[in-house]
Amino acid sequence: MSFIADRMSNIDASGIRKVFALAAKMTDPINLSIGQPDYDVDEAVKEVACREINAGFNTYTQTWGIPELREASSAYYERRFGVPLQNVMVTCGVSGGLLLSFMATINPGDEVLCADPYFVIYKHLINLLGGVCKPIDTYPDFKLKSSDIDAVVTEKTKLLIVNSPSNPTGVCLDEGELRAIADVARKHNLLVITDEIYEQLQYDSPPCTIVGMYDNVILLNGFSKMAGMPGWRVGFAAGPEEIIQQMNTLQQYTFVCAPSFAQKAAVKALETDITEKNGNYRVKRDIVYEGIKDHFNVVKPGGAFYVFPEAPGGDGDAFVEKAIANNVLIIPGSVFSDRKTHFRISFAAPDDTLRKGVEVLNRIAGEY
Ligand code: PMP
Repeated sequence: MSFIADRMSNIDASGIRKVFALAAKMTDPINLSIGQPDYDVDEAVKEVACREINAGFNTYTQTWGIPELREASSAYYERRFGVPLQNVMVTCGVSGGLLLSFMATINPGDEVLCADPYFVIYKHLINLLGGVCKPIDTYPDFKLKSSDIDAVVTEKTKLLIVNSPSNPTGVCLDEGELRAIADVARKHNLLVITDEIYEQLQYDSPPCTIVGMYDNVILLNGFSKMAGMPGWRVGFAAGPEEIIQQMNTLQQYTFVCAPSFAQKAAVKALETDITEKNGNYRVKRDIVYEGIKDHFNVVKPGGAFYVFPEAPGGDGDAFVEKAIANNVLIIPGSVFSDRKTHFRISFAAPDDTLRKGVEVLNRIAGEY
């Protein structure tokens, strides 16, 4: 008898494991695979964290999170988007919020819609819970369209995941597109989970949120990207009281609370001016996009720190193997998609690393 629970067979991590196995053989790669920012936590935010640790704020907090951070998160949405948040709870990153919100809402057999390409965690967590993940193909422009959602809804469809700016494509939805998605969700009485973790990293157009466009929306956001603190595990969730209450009950028996000092520091992080970081990342986006656009079929990403080009020859897995053989680490699109035609570049890296990577990728493309 195996000690491993049957449900674990619902998680297939073979794609990403294969990449890690290949990467392990590389020495000093040009690494364009990283899913976290290359900037550090701001000094002022670190100071708050250190001060709180030294002052003994090392205890549990309320399961909901410290009131200052719950209030500051709501005030931040009001300032940035003109919509305050309802029923905010603090989570252990957006990953924590995803697990809690999925566990609180997905019954076995429930269908969950998301854009394909998708952030990997969605599909695997949905499967783990016995839900049915139904990715909606968004190639070639990677925009999740209300008409495509409308076409695939069945009586079993319960949830719709929205992720703008997107991992792995960097594509952003504008206000009109989000409003159309909210309308179709309303028409079919779907619960929307919006993952807005890259909302501070948007380069060409003002950021927007689906919060406030429809009542049945659970917002997830966090500090891993905006404040460069992925290891501190803080995020927030907000939405209908009935659901957030259940998520809080689950948190009580699982994560218990987000790290105490990091919650205090996160309040400070919400006050931080992001103009400079945003400008630096726009430059990185331009280095990669402008650098490869004449050699690859590629959509210009408006946000996050990813570019998702089509592989020359149409086989992303094969192209990634070639790139790795040339010391450039990128991720095959098949990790994020039912298709394997593309690959993901992360531009969360120093500018000269990006330039070197662009040069190698263009040279490989020239071999096709
Ligand atoms: N959502 C998306 C789209 C992401 O890219 C990530 C991190 N790679 C997360 C959620 C999880 O972030 P965290 O748990 O660190 O907040």
